[in-house]
Amino acid sequence: MKITGTLMNYYIHCKRQCWLHGNKVNLEDYSELVKIGKELHHQKLDQKKHTEISIENIKIDKIKGEYLVEYKKSNADLKAATWQVLYYLHILKQKGIYKKGKLICMEKNRDVKKTVEVKLTPKMIEVIQKTEKEIEKLILSEEIPKIKLTAKCKKCAYYTYCAI
Ligand code: SF4
Repeated sequence: MKITGTLMNYYIHCKRQCWLHGNKVNLEDYSELVKIGKELHHQKLDQKKHTEISIENIKIDKIKGEYLVEYKKSNADLKAATWQVLYYLHILKQKGIYKKGKLICMEKNRDVKKTVEVKLTPKMIEVIQKTEKEIEKLILSEEIPKIKLTAKCKKCAYYTYCAI
């Protein structure tokens, strides 16, 4: 199974979201928030003349100098976004490409940005390898994780599905 950056992000954010996405229950096409995020993403990439890079199962927004750069529409779940970036750094490292990570969160007012820098460590690589196995096991499981509605759910593409 190919683990993606999105799956890594969702696994940290919510196991149920990870399971749903991994099992191709795709409600994201109907989510306004996801559409906004994609639009911001495309605009950013357009400004930067399509700098998105695909390597195997991951899509990186941009490589600039010593940094891998990932754009997010908000800093709502920085931890999940950070592990997504760390996962990308790990994949690059496996290809002999050594980068640091830069996460740029664009708030609703697009002039406001929050930038987080991350560095991959051996300990983090261990966590990523363990998490890859856990994600695979979760997605192959026939049991969908239970709903745990929290404030973060309101921004999730599956909110309507879980909340009704
Ligand atoms: S709505 Fe909440 S419980 Fe449901 S998948 Fe999204 S984050 Fe998880």
